[in-house]
Amino acid sequence: MPSCSRVAVIGAGAAGLAAARELRREGHAPVVFERAAAVGGTWRYDAAEDAADPLGAGGAHSSLYASLRTNLPRESMGFLDFPFVAGRSSADPRRFPGHPEVLRYLEAFARRFDLLGLVRFETEVVSVRRSRDDGAGAAGWRVSYRSRRPDGAGGEPEEEVFDAVVVCNGHFTEPRVAAIAGVHCWPGKQMHSHSYRVPDPFRGQVVMVIGYQPSGMDISRDIAGVAKEVHVAMRSEPPYQMHTTTATGHANLWLHSCTIERAEEDGSLVFQDGSKIKADVVLHCTGYKYNFPFLGDSDDELAGAISVDDNRVGPLYKHVFPPMLAPHVSFIGLPFRTIPFLVFQLQSKWVAGVLSGRLELPSQEAMMRDVDAFYSDMEARGCAKRRTHDLGQGNPFEYEDWVAEQCGLGRMEGWRKGMFVATCKNLADRPDSYRDEWDDDHLLPQAHQDFRKHSY
Ligand code: FAD
Repeated sequence: MPSCSRVAVIGAGAAGLAAARELRREGHAPVVFERAAAVGGTWRYDAAEDAADPLGAGGAHSSLYASLRTNLPRESMGFLDFPFVAGRSSADPRRFPGHPEVLRYLEAFARRFDLLGLVRFETEVVSVRRSRDDGAGAAGWRVSYRSRRPDGAGGEPEEEVFDAVVVCNGHFTEPRVAAIAGVHCWPGKQMHSHSYRVPDPFRGQVVMVIGYQPSGMDISRDIAGVAKEVHVAMRSEPPYQMHTTTATGHANLWLHSCTIERAEEDGSLVFQDGSKIKADVVLHCTGYKYNFPFLGDSDDELAGAISVDDNRVGPLYKHVFPPMLAPHVSFIGLPFRTIPFLVFQLQSKWVAGVLSGRLELPSQEAMMRDVDAFYSDMEARGCAKRRTHDLGQGNPFEYEDWVAEQCGLGRMEGWRKGMFVATCKNLADRPDSYRDEWDDDHLLPQAHQDFRKHSY
């Protein structure tokens, strides 16, 4: 018979909200810990750039910039049964809306499913440890947390024991920075996209952007409107060393398919092929690191069962369950290059069903074998460890469909897959205008027909 658990959910971003909803739907009692004063996580824009540390180490604020619009069309981005559609009163009905519209959507989701009462705001989880039944206290997972006092200071840590812990703390706040030899003697300024907000501070400057994933693509164009020159250094595969420079349609923006090898005291940045550019700023758009500071210290059982190595969180069965701790510890939202909210919802349904005993996991040994086989397969394909949670490698949508099937749902809707693929192609073909011109209108009627099944 399905059983009910008291579950600690860490984080009230999109993943934590999805988890709270699915856990409660399954009959569990979730308590959501959120260090901020409101829900939304990443989608709570913070206008203050981190002037004290522009490389952003330890900055817990959101990584959004002012001009950010979604990189997925709203129809494909929303949760399965709470469509992200523009109503008559929508403040921003565009298909690729600005970030405030996403926050409004998440707030509406939290209100619609009555989740706000489950969240303990301004409460940061500082540690999670196994609590053994020694006769003195309950067995389970001891969660220590610190709530902000009315005077703004952090209060004394408090503790509570839960049956299970679902980690939803996000992975876009701990910057990864490119290593550049000699950069400490280089006179320019360095910054990470985590701290980038608006282009104005770059007026008249020569800016070297490192990385050309979605943030690098957006920010280089944002800055090109005011800067003297913007150069983007990016890997080209293979071979990394071949230096070609591409015009972009912006008179002052160049893409260099070559990485920066070193920085010199005269302000030069030297590419791998020896060519140089004198720049005022290096802007690292080089992504983020997974970080779980609350998961035990080195002699703790948790730290022994799960670790981060070169951005691989592991071992994890299907990116969710550490085999040695399953099903009581789980992670929602680690995969990238996917449709995030959908994956959060599917993973949350799976975790909720497994915790209640309605769905079954393989044995610990079988899960470990699956993880080992996945790692071996990555190695055989020459895929770097840091891409472990990259769903853009391998068969498209295989993972999403697999999790959906575990939960007894059909495969992901064809129109949603089609929109994702069409948007990736459109982004590559029309990086300047993909949010305003597209060719996948034929998928909209089916999407809206599916949405009509949900009366929210
Ligand atoms: P977060 O939103 O980061 O939420 C984590 C929450 O956990 C935060 O509220 C944080 O305060 C809290 N927390 C962390 N540690 C603790 C702790 N110890 N105790 C208590 N609380 C804690 N996705 C899309 O679908 N479409 C897009 O267009 C898109 N654009 C993006 C643009 C940028 C620049 C970035 C960075 C991401 C973008 N994403 C986009 C991905 C986006 O991150 C996901 O959509 C999603 O919002 C992530 O949700 P999350 O809940 O996993 O993490």
